Amino acid sequence: MRVLLVEDDEMLGGGLQSGLTQDGYAVDWVKDGDAAELFLRTEEYEIVILDLGLPKKSGLEVLKHLRSEGSDIPVLILTARDSVDDRVKGLDCGADDYMIKPFDLDELNARIRALMRRRSGRAETVITHGELIIDPASHTVQLRGEPVDLSPREFTLLEKLLESRGRVLSRSQLEQSIYSWKDEVDSNAVEVHIHHLRKKIGSEMIRTVRGVGYIIDKAPKE
Ligand code: CA
Repeated sequence: MRVLLVEDDEMLGGGLQSGLTQDGYAVDWVKDGDAAELFLRTEEYEIVILDLGLPKKSGLEVLKHLRSEGSDIPVLILTARDSVDDRVKGLDCGADDYMIKPFDLDELNARIRALMRRRSGRAETVITHGELIIDPASHTVQLRGEPVDLSPREFTLLEKLLESRGRVLSRSQLEQSIYSWKDEVDSNAVEVHIHHLRKKIGSEMIRTVRGVGYIIDKAPKE
């Protein structure tokens, strides 16, 4: 999953970037409001983690601008403990959730998962597809009751395809969800991951749509 992290504090930003990357997210980290707007215009993200006190343009201005353009991307704001006012303003300007600094990475992760669940209209914490069950919280996968061992990127790809069941996702959409802009990406990286996934979960589930991309069809009862 592709995350835009906007944070000017080097320590916090660096810690968040490496923590979230370890959890399988593709993280682009920018350090001021102008850069945030540039990246939001040019890249596709699934969530924005937005500090409010930023150089050049405040987080609140970035958020207001984003919503005024009609974007409904989930935004989680980061605020200081004593700034109740900022949190209220942030939520009123269209933030979906907030975290008070300092915070725990596990809690941030849980809030990101909750936002993603809400966005996909899913009440359950696990995603079930036929005999396959994936759990975004523990990053575990089971097929017919047996654990399946996936790499973080394979997991993210499978999660993304399952969250978008019934829709074809292009190679570049899938690529964007597993790599940040600074990653060196082989042109056939997505194909290689899909190939490995098929070996692990069976070749039928992920269908290739020639010239377009990949799809997981909706399960019969959906
Ligand atoms: Ca700041």
